[in-house]
Amino acid sequence: MPSREVLLELPIVDHHAHLRPGPSGLEAAGAFASQGGTHLFLATQNYLPRAPRSLEEYRTQFETTEELALAVEKGSGLRVFVVLAPYPIDLVHVHEAIGLERAEELQHSAIDLALDHVREGRAVALGEVGRAHFPVDEPVKAALERVLDHALEGAKRTGCPAVLHTADLDALGYGELSQRVRHSGLTAERAVKHYARTYVPPEGRAGLTPSFLAKRDVVRSALGESGPFFFETDFLDDPTRPGVALPLDTVARRARAILTSCEPARFEETVRALTIPFVEAPRKVYGLELSRATPLRLTVPA
Ligand SMILES: [Zn+2]
Repeated sequence: MPSREVLLELPIVDHHAHLRPGPSGLEAAGAFASQGGTHLFLATQNYLPRAPRSLEEYRTQFETTEELALAVEKGSGLRVFVVLAPYPIDLVHVHEAIGLERAEELQHSAIDLALDHVREGRAVALGEVGRAHFPVDEPVKAALERVLDHALEGAKRTGCPAVLHTADLDALGYGELSQRVRHSGLTAERAVKHYARTYVPPEGRAGLTPSFLAKRDVVRSALGESGPFFFETDFLDDPTRPGVALPLDTVARRARAILTSCEPARFEETVRALTIPFVEAPRKVYGLELSRATPLRLTVPA
């Protein structure tokens, strides 16, 4: 089959991943970069074997994420955006040790701390905030809802997006969550449902922005719509949980595969479809202008 070489300005963006300090995280980031990846949204996580029990422990955690982002930028050439918040599930784990009231207060103050980082330009969004993705006791559930409201109001006040951790959503779920978001005053588009595993078309998303897990079928379903939406791996470099999320180079490999296998007549249209998650959504949702320093070189059918 005849082929041609193209140079593309298209950035390639993974909207949600976690890394730990150490060589395995840098290696994963390097693999993403070498497949053409350019930008990574790095969400914080617990680096201790347990959830933080004090604001000081969250401060250390957030600073670790920030240092890690700088190390990844230096080591891989990727541009890394930090996303910070106390993980909602931390409350579920920690309330038995410190009591539900203190656990809730801790979430509130850690959210305020994360918002300080956003105001200082050290993070781009509040995340992950949201709900337990498994059944919890009624008082815990109610506390999580109050924390979610605090987070959404804080994001609205600070002028940043909120990245939401919830169970997988259908149109009903998007509708309910969207009401919650709008009630806080935050624009629905700036609330990003992360780890969206099921493709729900725009008319079923009540204005919320999905960050789709970059599985082949979901990626194929999303491409062609006007968005905004993102792709993500939710990569976790946890050696004790191999295969729990997609490899960090997945978004770049999928984008390449889509471009190098598409019919010549549809090439321009396909590039345009990929600008939705990689250029348009970062601009609309985050106000970020993303571009790549060196063009992506690909051999495509002619
Ligand atoms: Zn995550």
